[in-house]
Amino acid sequence: MLDHLSFEAPKPKIISGAKSDWELVIGLEVHAQVSSNAKLFSGASTTFGAEPNSNVAFVDAAMPGMLPVINEYCVEQAVRTGLGLKAEINLFSAFDRKNYFYPDLPQGYQISQLYHPIVGEGEIIVDMAPGVARRVRVERIHLEQDAGKSIHDMDPTMSFVDLNRTGVALMEIVSRPDIRGPEEAAAYVGKLRQILRYLGTCDGNMQNGNLRADVNVSICQPGAYEKFVETGDFSHLGTRCEIKNMNSMRFIQAAIEYEARRQIAIVEDGGKVDQETRLYDPDKGETRSMRSKEEAHDYRYFPCPDLLPLEIEQGWVDDIAATMPELPDGKKARFVREFGLSEYDASVLTADVGNADYFEAVLTVGNDGKLSANWVINELFGRLKKDDKDILESPVSPEQLGKIVGLIKKGDISGKIAKDLFEIVYTEGGDPEALVEERGMKQVTDMGAIEAAVDAVIAANPAQVEKAKQNPKLAGWFVGQVMKSTGGKANPAAVNELVLKKLAQ
Ligand code: ADP
Ligand code: MG
Repeated sequence: MLDHLSFEAPKPKIISGAKSDWELVIGLEVHAQVSSNAKLFSGASTTFGAEPNSNVAFVDAAMPGMLPVINEYCVEQAVRTGLGLKAEINLFSAFDRKNYFYPDLPQGYQISQLYHPIVGEGEIIVDMAPGVARRVRVERIHLEQDAGKSIHDMDPTMSFVDLNRTGVALMEIVSRPDIRGPEEAAAYVGKLRQILRYLGTCDGNMQNGNLRADVNVSICQPGAYEKFVETGDFSHLGTRCEIKNMNSMRFIQAAIEYEARRQIAIVEDGGKVDQETRLYDPDKGETRSMRSKEEAHDYRYFPCPDLLPLEIEQGWVDDIAATMPELPDGKKARFVREFGLSEYDASVLTADVGNADYFEAVLTVGNDGKLSANWVINELFGRLKKDDKDILESPVSPEQLGKIVGLIKKGDISGKIAKDLFEIVYTEGGDPEALVEERGMKQVTDMGAIEAAVDAVIAANPAQVEKAKQNPKLAGWFVGQVMKSTGGKANPAAVNELVLKKLAQ
C-alpha cells in the first residue's frame, strides 16, 4: 500500500443473531481538545491538573457583561487539522449558541458551530492490514467550547464544580457512518489520533479526556448499507444509538459489540430500537440509557450575537498549508520507498512522530535503513518497554545508536557484541566507537588469529573431530567453541568457513 490509491476495503463485520445475520453501521463524533495555551474565547490557561477553578477568566465564569474574543491560534489549529484530513476549509463560518442547563456550564449555553462549520468534507484512510484499508469520510469539523466538570464523589452531601476546563477549545470531528465494525472504529480513532499528533493540533491524550468519542451504532441487514451509499437515503439504515464520551479504544470496541447485540435481540424479538443517548459501564460491560435522543431544535440553536461570523482569507489558509508536516501515510510510504523497509516496519516506526524522528536520526549516522530499523524496533523499543520508558526518555541517543549500527555495518563488531555494547551504552553511556576500542570489543577479522583459534579447538578435541568427520552437522559445535574462546569477537562467517575447511582435511 504505497500510495493509498490502491487498497482493498475490508469486509464488514457480520454478527449472527438467533434468526439472521446482521451488519453494523458506525459513525463517530470525536471531540479533540485543541493544543493551545489559552482557551477558545478567553486568555485563561488550559494547563491540565491545575488547582480547581484557578484557570477561569470572567468570561469563562459567565460574569454578566463579559464578551468572548476568538483565539486566532485555535482557529489556525482547526484549519491545520482540516488540511491534514484533506478537507474543504470554509472561509466563512459562524458560531451558534446551543442552549442547555448544567451546573458545569455557567453560561447556560455552549458556543458551537452548527450551521456553518469551519471545516467541511474530508477523509481518513484507516489501515486494517497491509493492503487493506477503509476510506472513512469526514462530514465536518467544527470548533466549540468544552464544559467544566461536576464532581459528585468527593463528599457525601455536596457536589462540586471545577471550571478549569470550561471554555477550552474543542474540535468536533464528525465522520460519515462509514465504519463497519468495532475493530475499524478503534482503528479510526487510532489513525485520527496519530494524524492529530503529527499535526500538533491535539495531544491525543485519551486518559486526560483530551480525545474522546461519541459512538453512533446501528444494525442493518446485509445489502442495506450499499443501498444507503448509492442513494444517500438514511432510511435504509437502522435506528442508531449514541454511546457518549468514550475515552478508551478497548471500551469503544466492547461497547459497540454489546450495543449491536442488544439491538439485534430487540429487533429479532419484534421490537423497535429507540433512538437514544446511552452510557457504557465498563464494570458491567454494558450500555444503558441516559436520555432519549435530543434534536437540534431541543437546544434552540441560534447565531451567537456576541461573535461576528468568522471570515478567513485564502492566503492565510495557504500559509498554514505551506507549513504542514509530513503526515503518517506519506512518511510510511517514503520509509518503504527510500529505505527498503517492510510495510510492517515502516508502520511501527511511523506510529508515533517521535519514533519516526528518532529512526531518521539513527539512519543519518548509521547509514543503513534495514539495520537501523531492526535496532530501533527490536533492541531499543524492547529495552525501553522493559523500563516503561518513552522514546523521548531513551538513555541511548539516536547518534549513539547510529554509531553502533555503523560499527556493525563496517564489520568492526559482530551482532552479538553489538548487543553487549548497546547494553553498556544504555546503562553507562559513552561513545560507542571509543568503548569498542577501550574494551577491546573489535571483531577479529585477522585470518591468522582466527585460524590459530580454530586450530587450538581442533587440537584439543580429537574425539569430536572424528565424529564431525562422519557427521558434518557437528561442525557448528566447533564454530561455537571458537566464538567462545575468542570472546565472541571472531567474525562468525570466517570461523565457519575455516572450521569446514579444516574438518574436511
Ligand atoms: P447529531 O448531531 O444529532 O448526533 P449527526 O447527523 O451529526 O447527528 O450524526 C451524528 C453521527 O451519527 C455521525 O457521525 C453520523 O455518521 C452518525 N450516524 C448517522 N446515522 C447513523 C446510523 N444510522 N447508524 C450509525 N451511525 C449513524
Ligand atoms: Mg451527536
